[in-house]
Amino acid sequence: MRIKWPGNSCIVCLKEVPLFREHLIPKALGGILTCSFLCKECNSALGTRVDAGVKKDPRIRFAVDSLQSDIPNLARKFMEGQPYIFQVGDWTERGKFRKGELRATTRQTKEGALIQPSDEGYKSNERILRKNGINEDTIQEGLRRLHEAKENEIVALAPGRIAVKRRVEQVEPDLRGSKLLTSLLPLKIGYEFLALHLGSAIYRQDSTLGRLRVALRQGLEDHPSFHVESLNASEYRPFHGIDFVGNNPHAVVLIRLFGWLAFRVHFHGLAINHPSISYLHRLDTNQEDIQTTNRSADTPRQSGQPDC
Ligand SMILES: [Zn+2]
Repeated sequence: MRIKWPGNSCIVCLKEVPLFREHLIPKALGGILTCSFLCKECNSALGTRVDAGVKKDPRIRFAVDSLQSDIPNLARKFMEGQPYIFQVGDWTERGKFRKGELRATTRQTKEGALIQPSDEGYKSNERILRKNGINEDTIQEGLRRLHEAKENEIVALAPGRIAVKRRVEQVEPDLRGSKLLTSLLPLKIGYEFLALHLGSAIYRQDSTLGRLRVALRQGLEDHPSFHVESLNASEYRPFHGIDFVGNNPHAVVLIRLFGWLAFRVHFHGLAINHPSISYLHRLDTNQEDIQTTNRSADTPRQSGQPDC
């Protein structure tokens, strides 16, 4: 869903420059809610600083892994290039998904076996057999038998050389180098979602909105203008959601990713007196639903809170 933006300036740096399309929920997570309200510079800074981190978060990796059958296309894209760990016989191997296929990292075991992706294995064997002076017919016959062999069946290619197409088992995300998302992603999504409520009032030069813009511009994970609570639901489900949950005691936005990972973003000192927006994106059908509700009896605003 593409939301039309009423302003001419970037909602983060306030510069009046051409505006670029921003995914509120990162594209890497299948997000399709967009609005053109960021300048090129802020869009690229937030992309590098915030969106790039989502693929490294182990909670997100497990969520995508467990929802693979519901969201096969998104899972395939998300898994591309990601490190995995798996069993090959008694060996624990590592590798990455390339073009939808898990490819082992080539290595020699201490027993002298060469572990390789199958296509590379055929080439290596052919090269080594030729180097050892084996005649071409024997080489091709050996490779043909290897090709036709079942998984885990030992094939004698030539005297002194065997090959096995090993079964890959227990594939799991390799979490070395993984990193939990910082509070910047929920802050970014929450602030952009507030902008959808406020329209051009997001540009107001009051100290509360100003401090949020500073936190976003400078990539501050910890700042008195906001705080983020992390919560978990009981199971993964194929949807993302963003809801404005009210002004009690200040504006709060609830973000849910893959139905399970949730963040409650508290915007200190800010109250939003606009109808609430509730957004839901079903990842299995790619359907989106956006609803606006008038909050007639919202919590009274506390003194000192800017009224937006
Ligand atoms: Zn900007």
